[in-house]
Amino acid sequence: MLDVSGLKKVYEGSGRRVEAVRDLTFTVDAGELVCLVGPSGCGKTTLLKCVGGLLTPTAGEVRVGGRRVTGPPPDMAVVFQEYGRSLFPWKRVGENVELPLKQKRLGAARRRELVADALESVGLTDAAGAYPWQLSGGMQQRVAIARALAYEPEVLLMDEPFAAVDAQTRAELEDLVRGLWRQRGITILFVTHDIDEAVYLGERVLILSSSPTVVQEQLKIDLPADRDQLHTRVAPRFAELRTHVYEQIQAAKRGTPVDRLTKDPTSDTPPPH
Ligand code: ADP
Ligand code: MG
Repeated sequence: MLDVSGLKKVYEGSGRRVEAVRDLTFTVDAGELVCLVGPSGCGKTTLLKCVGGLLTPTAGEVRVGGRRVTGPPPDMAVVFQEYGRSLFPWKRVGENVELPLKQKRLGAARRRELVADALESVGLTDAAGAYPWQLSGGMQQRVAIARALAYEPEVLLMDEPFAAVDAQTRAELEDLVRGLWRQRGITILFVTHDIDEAVYLGERVLILSSSPTVVQEQLKIDLPADRDQLHTRVAPRFAELRTHVYEQIQAAKRGTPVDRLTKDPTSDTPPPH
Protein backbone atom coordinates (compact mmCIF):
# COMPACT_ATOMS: atom_id res chain seq x y z
CA MET A 1 0.00 0.00 0.00
CA LEU A 2 2.82 2.33 0.97
CA ASP A 3 6.26 2.09 -0.54
CA VAL A 4 9.06 4.41 0.54
CA SER A 5 12.38 3.93 -1.21
CA GLY A 6 15.68 5.73 -0.80
CA LEU A 7 13.94 8.76 0.65
CA LYS A 8 16.23 11.67 1.38
CA LYS A 9 15.30 15.20 2.37
CA VAL A 10 17.67 18.10 2.68
CA TYR A 11 16.33 21.51 3.70
CA GLU A 12 18.21 24.32 2.05
CA GLY A 13 17.82 28.06 2.29
CA SER A 14 19.30 31.22 3.77
CA GLY A 15 22.76 29.69 3.71
CA ARG A 16 21.77 26.72 5.92
CA ARG A 17 21.70 23.11 4.86
CA VAL A 18 19.93 20.55 7.08
CA GLU A 19 19.87 16.90 6.11
CA ALA A 20 16.63 15.81 7.83
CA VAL A 21 16.53 12.21 6.55
CA ARG A 22 19.32 10.44 4.71
CA ASP A 23 18.01 7.19 3.27
CA LEU A 24 14.70 5.64 4.29
CA THR A 25 13.34 2.48 2.70
CA PHE A 26 10.32 0.55 3.99
CA THR A 27 6.89 -0.66 3.00
CA VAL A 28 3.54 -0.82 4.78
CA ASP A 29 1.03 -3.47 3.71
CA ALA A 30 -2.64 -2.70 3.17
CA GLY A 31 -4.47 -2.84 6.50
CA GLU A 32 -1.28 -2.82 8.58
CA LEU A 33 -0.68 -0.61 11.63
CA VAL A 34 2.98 0.35 11.64
CA CYS A 35 4.64 2.58 14.22
CA LEU A 36 7.69 4.60 13.44
CA VAL A 37 9.74 5.50 16.48
CA GLY A 38 12.77 7.74 16.69
CA PRO A 39 14.25 10.53 18.79
CA SER A 40 13.05 14.15 18.46
CA GLY A 41 14.61 15.90 15.48
CA CYS A 42 15.40 12.68 13.60
CA GLY A 43 13.09 13.60 10.74
CA LYS A 44 9.78 11.88 11.53
CA THR A 45 7.62 14.84 10.58
CA THR A 46 9.71 15.42 7.48
CA LEU A 47 9.14 11.80 6.47
CA LEU A 48 5.36 12.03 7.03
CA LYS A 49 5.17 15.25 5.03
CA CYS A 50 6.97 13.54 2.14
CA VAL A 51 4.62 10.54 2.38
CA GLY A 52 1.61 12.87 2.49
CA GLY A 53 2.77 14.77 -0.58
CA LEU A 54 3.23 18.02 1.36
CA LEU A 55 7.00 18.13 0.76
CA THR A 56 9.05 17.09 -2.25
CA PRO A 57 11.86 14.63 -1.41
CA THR A 58 15.41 15.57 -2.36
CA ALA A 59 15.97 11.99 -3.57
CA GLY A 60 14.04 8.73 -3.60
CA GLU A 61 10.30 8.33 -3.90
CA VAL A 62 7.06 7.44 -2.19
CA ARG A 63 4.36 5.30 -3.77
CA VAL A 64 0.83 4.86 -2.47
CA GLY A 65 -1.12 1.98 -3.97
CA GLY A 66 1.54 1.84 -6.70
CA ARG A 67 1.18 5.51 -7.71
CA ARG A 68 4.05 7.89 -7.20
CA VAL A 69 3.24 10.67 -4.74
CA THR A 70 3.68 14.17 -6.19
CA GLY A 71 1.00 15.97 -4.17
CA PRO A 72 -1.49 15.01 -1.43
CA PRO A 73 -2.89 11.58 -2.44
CA PRO A 74 -6.70 11.51 -2.59
CA ASP A 75 -7.12 8.49 -0.30
CA MET A 76 -4.98 9.74 2.54
CA ALA A 77 -5.68 11.67 5.75
CA VAL A 78 -3.24 13.09 8.28
CA VAL A 79 -3.60 13.77 12.01
CA PHE A 80 -0.99 16.17 13.38
CA GLN A 81 0.29 16.70 16.89
CA GLU A 82 -0.96 20.25 17.18
CA TYR A 83 -4.71 19.80 17.34
CA GLY A 84 -4.98 23.37 18.58
CA ARG A 85 -3.82 24.60 15.21
CA SER A 86 -5.47 21.97 13.04
CA LEU A 87 -9.10 22.85 13.80
CA PHE A 88 -10.85 26.07 12.76
CA PRO A 89 -11.88 27.86 15.99
CA TRP A 90 -14.75 29.72 14.31
CA LYS A 91 -16.35 26.55 13.00
CA ARG A 92 -18.34 24.12 15.10
CA VAL A 93 -17.07 20.56 15.62
CA GLY A 94 -19.46 19.10 13.04
CA GLU A 95 -18.44 21.71 10.45
CA ASN A 96 -14.75 21.04 11.09
CA VAL A 97 -15.30 17.35 10.45
CA GLU A 98 -17.38 18.02 7.34
CA LEU A 99 -15.00 20.49 5.72
CA PRO A 100 -12.68 18.08 3.82
CA LEU A 101 -15.72 16.16 2.54
CA LYS A 102 -16.77 19.18 0.49
CA GLN A 103 -13.86 18.45 -1.85
CA LYS A 104 -15.18 14.94 -2.38
CA ARG A 105 -18.30 16.10 -4.21
CA LEU A 106 -20.61 14.12 -1.95
CA GLY A 107 -24.26 15.07 -1.46
CA ALA A 108 -25.22 16.92 1.71
CA ALA A 109 -27.08 13.91 3.12
CA ARG A 110 -24.11 11.59 2.66
CA ARG A 111 -21.81 14.19 4.23
CA ARG A 112 -24.06 14.43 7.28
CA GLU A 113 -24.08 10.65 7.58
CA LEU A 114 -20.27 10.43 7.44
CA VAL A 115 -19.87 13.23 10.01
CA ALA A 116 -22.34 11.63 12.42
CA ASP A 117 -20.72 8.22 12.02
CA ALA A 118 -17.20 9.58 12.56
CA LEU A 119 -18.20 11.60 15.62
CA GLU A 120 -19.92 8.54 17.06
CA SER A 121 -16.79 6.44 16.46
CA VAL A 122 -14.74 8.77 18.63
CA GLY A 123 -17.47 9.21 21.27
CA LEU A 124 -18.26 12.84 20.47
CA THR A 125 -21.81 12.71 19.14
CA ASP A 126 -22.95 15.23 21.74
CA ALA A 127 -20.19 17.72 20.90
CA ALA A 128 -21.13 18.28 17.24
CA GLY A 129 -22.50 21.77 17.95
CA ALA A 130 -19.65 22.93 20.21
CA TYR A 131 -16.69 25.05 19.17
CA PRO A 132 -13.22 23.44 19.40
CA TRP A 133 -12.08 25.87 22.08
CA GLN A 134 -14.91 24.69 24.33
CA LEU A 135 -13.38 21.20 24.40
CA SER A 136 -10.44 19.69 26.29
CA GLY A 137 -7.22 18.92 24.43
CA GLY A 138 -8.04 15.21 24.28
CA MET A 139 -11.49 15.94 22.88
CA GLN A 140 -10.03 18.29 20.27
CA GLN A 141 -7.70 15.54 19.15
CA ARG A 142 -10.71 13.22 18.90
CA VAL A 143 -12.29 15.78 16.58
CA ALA A 144 -9.17 15.73 14.41
CA ILE A 145 -9.36 11.92 14.33
CA ALA A 146 -13.08 12.07 13.45
CA ARG A 147 -12.31 14.48 10.61
CA ALA A 148 -9.76 12.02 9.24
CA LEU A 149 -12.18 9.08 9.58
CA ALA A 150 -15.08 10.88 7.92
CA TYR A 151 -12.88 11.34 4.88
CA GLU A 152 -12.76 7.51 4.61
CA PRO A 153 -9.03 7.32 3.84
CA GLU A 154 -7.29 4.14 2.84
CA VAL A 155 -4.14 5.38 4.52
CA LEU A 156 -4.02 7.36 7.75
CA LEU A 157 -0.83 9.15 8.81
CA MET A 158 -0.53 10.19 12.44
CA ASP A 159 2.30 12.45 13.62
CA GLU A 160 2.78 12.19 17.41
CA PRO A 161 -0.95 12.80 17.79
CA PHE A 162 -1.03 12.29 21.56
CA ALA A 163 2.20 14.00 22.59
CA ALA A 164 0.37 17.00 24.02
CA VAL A 165 -2.37 15.31 26.07
CA ASP A 166 -2.25 13.98 29.64
CA ALA A 167 -1.31 10.35 30.32
CA GLN A 168 -4.84 9.13 31.11
CA THR A 169 -6.30 10.67 27.94
CA ARG A 170 -3.38 9.40 25.95
CA ALA A 171 -4.06 5.82 27.04
CA GLU A 172 -7.72 6.20 26.01
CA LEU A 173 -6.80 7.65 22.64
CA GLU A 174 -4.30 4.83 22.00
CA ASP A 175 -7.05 2.29 22.59
CA LEU A 176 -9.38 4.31 20.38
CA VAL A 177 -6.89 4.17 17.50
CA ARG A 178 -6.34 0.43 17.84
CA GLY A 179 -10.08 -0.15 18.04
CA LEU A 180 -10.78 1.95 14.94
CA TRP A 181 -7.97 0.24 13.07
CA ARG A 182 -9.40 -3.19 13.83
CA GLN A 183 -12.96 -2.14 12.92
CA ARG A 184 -12.21 -0.22 9.76
CA GLY A 185 -9.18 -2.01 8.32
CA ILE A 186 -7.39 1.26 7.50
CA THR A 187 -3.65 1.27 6.81
CA ILE A 188 -2.03 3.35 9.55
CA LEU A 189 1.45 4.82 9.80
CA PHE A 190 1.80 6.16 13.34
CA VAL A 191 4.81 8.26 14.26
CA THR A 192 5.91 8.69 17.86
CA HIS A 193 8.99 9.36 19.97
CA ASP A 194 7.49 7.20 22.74
CA ILE A 195 8.88 3.67 22.72
CA ASP A 196 6.13 2.17 24.89
CA GLU A 197 3.44 3.72 22.72
CA ALA A 198 5.04 2.31 19.56
CA VAL A 199 5.21 -1.22 20.98
CA TYR A 200 1.71 -1.06 22.49
CA LEU A 201 0.06 0.13 19.27
CA GLY A 202 2.02 -1.38 16.42
CA GLU A 203 1.88 -4.65 14.59
CA ARG A 204 5.34 -3.68 13.47
CA VAL A 205 7.75 -1.04 14.71
CA LEU A 206 10.25 0.72 12.48
CA ILE A 207 13.12 2.10 14.52
CA LEU A 208 14.74 5.22 13.11
CA SER A 209 18.28 6.18 13.99
CA SER A 210 19.13 9.69 15.07
CA SER A 211 20.55 11.93 12.37
CA PRO A 212 21.78 10.96 9.73
CA THR A 213 18.47 9.15 9.71
CA VAL A 214 18.05 5.64 8.36
CA VAL A 215 15.75 2.73 9.30
CA GLN A 216 17.75 1.02 12.03
CA GLU A 217 15.52 -2.03 12.39
CA GLN A 218 12.05 -3.34 11.60
CA LEU A 219 10.59 -5.29 14.47
CA LYS A 220 7.48 -7.46 14.36
CA ILE A 221 5.40 -6.99 17.50
CA ASP A 222 4.26 -10.50 18.34
CA LEU A 223 1.82 -9.47 21.06
CA PRO A 224 -1.79 -10.71 20.84
CA ALA A 225 -4.16 -8.55 18.78
CA ASP A 226 -6.35 -7.96 21.84
CA ARG A 227 -4.36 -5.45 23.83
CA ASP A 228 -5.34 -3.45 26.86
CA GLN A 229 -3.55 -0.92 28.99
CA LEU A 230 -3.77 -3.03 32.14
CA HIS A 231 -2.47 -6.39 30.95
CA THR A 232 -0.45 -5.75 27.82
CA ARG A 233 1.92 -3.26 29.42
CA VAL A 234 2.87 -5.66 32.23
CA ALA A 235 3.27 -8.72 29.98
CA PRO A 236 6.86 -10.07 29.98
CA ARG A 237 6.93 -10.01 26.18
CA PHE A 238 5.97 -6.32 26.17
CA ALA A 239 8.92 -5.61 28.48
CA GLU A 240 11.30 -7.58 26.22
CA LEU A 241 10.15 -5.76 23.11
CA ARG A 242 10.30 -2.27 24.59
CA THR A 243 13.74 -3.00 26.10
CA HIS A 244 14.94 -4.14 22.70
CA VAL A 245 13.63 -1.00 20.98
CA TYR A 246 15.23 1.15 23.67
CA GLU A 247 18.57 -0.63 23.22
CA GLN A 248 18.38 -0.22 19.46
CA ILE A 249 17.83 3.51 19.76
CA GLN A 250 20.76 3.80 22.18
CA ALA A 251 22.89 1.67 19.85
CA ALA A 252 21.90 3.85 16.90
CA LYS A 253 23.34 6.83 18.74
CA ARG A 254 26.62 4.92 19.16
CA GLY A 255 26.48 3.45 15.64
CA THR A 256 26.56 -0.22 16.73
CA PRO A 257 23.31 -2.19 16.32
CA VAL A 258 22.63 -4.84 18.98
CA ASP A 259 21.71 -8.46 18.22
CA ARG A 260 18.24 -9.26 17.01
CA LEU A 261 15.64 -10.14 19.58
CA THR A 262 14.93 -13.85 19.91
CA LYS A 263 11.53 -14.88 18.67
CA ASP A 264 8.88 -15.25 21.33
CA PRO A 265 8.77 -19.04 21.97
CA THR A 266 5.04 -18.85 22.72
CA SER A 267 4.12 -16.78 19.66
CA ASP A 268 3.17 -19.80 17.55
CA THR A 269 0.41 -20.72 19.96
CA PRO A 270 -2.76 -18.66 19.60
CA PRO A 271 -3.29 -16.01 22.28
CA PRO A 272 -5.68 -16.97 25.10
CA HIS A 273 -9.13 -15.34 25.05
P1 ADP B 1 11.04 15.11 14.16
O1 ADP B 1 9.63 15.20 13.66
O2 ADP B 1 11.57 13.72 14.19
O3 ADP B 1 11.23 15.79 15.48
P2 ADP B 1 11.61 16.94 11.95
O4 ADP B 1 11.27 16.22 10.71
O5 ADP B 1 10.65 17.95 12.45
O6 ADP B 1 11.98 15.89 13.10
O7 ADP B 1 13.02 17.69 11.75
C1 ADP B 1 14.18 17.00 11.32
C2 ADP B 1 15.32 18.01 11.14
O8 ADP B 1 15.02 18.89 10.06
C3 ADP B 1 15.57 18.88 12.36
O9 ADP B 1 16.95 19.10 12.46
C4 ADP B 1 14.82 20.16 12.03
O10 ADP B 1 15.41 21.26 12.66
C5 ADP B 1 15.00 20.23 10.51
N1 ADP B 1 13.88 20.92 9.84
C6 ADP B 1 12.57 20.57 9.90
N2 ADP B 1 11.82 21.38 9.14
C7 ADP B 1 12.68 22.28 8.57
C8 ADP B 1 12.52 23.38 7.66
N3 ADP B 1 11.32 23.72 7.15
N4 ADP B 1 13.64 24.05 7.30
C9 ADP B 1 14.86 23.72 7.78
N5 ADP B 1 15.07 22.69 8.64
C10 ADP B 1 14.00 21.97 9.03
MG1 MG C 1 7.89 15.90 14.54
